[in-house]
Amino acid sequence: MKTCTKCKKEFPLNFFYKKKERKNGHSSRCKKCELLTSRLWANSEKGFINRLFIRINAKTRHKRFRNLSEKEKNKHRCYVTKEKFINLWELHKKKYGYTCALTGVEIIPKTTSNKEINKSNSISVDRLNPAIGYTEENIIFVSNKVNQMKSAVTKELCIAIIKAYEEKGL
Ligand SMILES: [Zn+2]
Repeated sequence: MKTCTKCKKEFPLNFFYKKKERKNGHSSRCKKCELLTSRLWANSEKGFINRLFIRINAKTRHKRFRNLSEKEKNKHRCYVTKEKFINLWELHKKKYGYTCALTGVEIIPKTTSNKEINKSNSISVDRLNPAIGYTEENIIFVSNKVNQMKSAVTKELCIAIIKAYEEKGL
């Protein structure tokens, strides 16, 4: 039996995750408390922004990039450190608050694996220019929905669309 340092309840050892680096080979908190803590972290703003960074940083290692050339991979590569990334988010908040840099809609640090929950206004990190990677200048924070719509929109395409609008007087 072992006492959880969080809920102070006593449980058999299999109620604790195995952790090699721990003295007795188990986590100090019970499984339930561990899960609760990680869920709280994932849904906190800090945890959410942290995860966004982890995701973009690992992006080019994803299997869908495996067969791409280095040049293609560079378009998706992360060129900023975690500290820089967190700083960029702080700068975004100063300038835009909790709104999308492109549409002004509210964006929130909401994490969920539940597909039924609408994630369209989750904070999403995008590349302003999809032809270059995640650099300090190119990173923008937008809503998840905008990120999906924008994924292939280049500056040239934007200009062409505006030109067509103007020509048609729309
Ligand atoms: Zn516990």
